[in-house]
Amino acid sequence: MTIQIGGYQGARSCTGGPTQGARNLVSWWLGAYGDRGATNLGIYNCRPVSGGSVLSLHAEGRAADLGTPVGNTWSWGVMDTFRLNSQELGLQCVIHNRRIWSSIAADWRPYSGSSPHTDHGHVELMWWAANGGLTVDRINQVMQGGTPLPPPPPAMPVLRLGSTGDAVRTLQETLNRWYPSLPPLDVDGDFGPRTDARVRYFQGRSGLVADGIVGPATWRALGF
Ligand SMILES: [Zn+2]
Repeated sequence: MTIQIGGYQGARSCTGGPTQGARNLVSWWLGAYGDRGATNLGIYNCRPVSGGSVLSLHAEGRAADLGTPVGNTWSWGVMDTFRLNSQELGLQCVIHNRRIWSSIAADWRPYSGSSPHTDHGHVELMWWAANGGLTVDRINQVMQGGTPLPPPPPAMPVLRLGSTGDAVRTLQETLNRWYPSLPPLDVDGDFGPRTDARVRYFQGRSGLVADGIVGPATWRALGF
């Protein structure tokens, strides 16, 4: 059980189809979790990362979108088990439920891309795994054929006036989704006075103490 750190392999060009390793991952996924509503949302797609110009790993057939029923209690545990065993499985990135792990660091981080990935896990394979190193047998062995218990999602950090970073971006984006008719906040990762006012507005309307501090109760009320 080892987390892959370093060696991230970006996509270079559209290759024309799915890799064997990604196909194996999807067939394992459907076999292991199909009865819980797991689906195949696709492997090969010659396109950039949505909202950007960088080529998606789907363009090399090295990423699989593993469909998950929205709001289920089990897929988080599977995605975290992927991360914890990423070296054995040859995985370099997982995105699920507004969180991303990639092999630049060990832990999950907030994900503020244009899709929240609440209905699927985006899983990227390193080349050795994509080229057939990742077999169904290997996945079964590493995942021990069992159903991992879902660990609680990593806690979102406490944010307040002056906070910065990806979690603030996630907060701003989420508040914009909550109040589409209000002037949108800049999604700049800077918790300034406008974000503070919007947080207090949200808290006041959600029966929370309107103190502008985004702690566990406020994150929960926002849907995290
Ligand atoms: Zn994807």
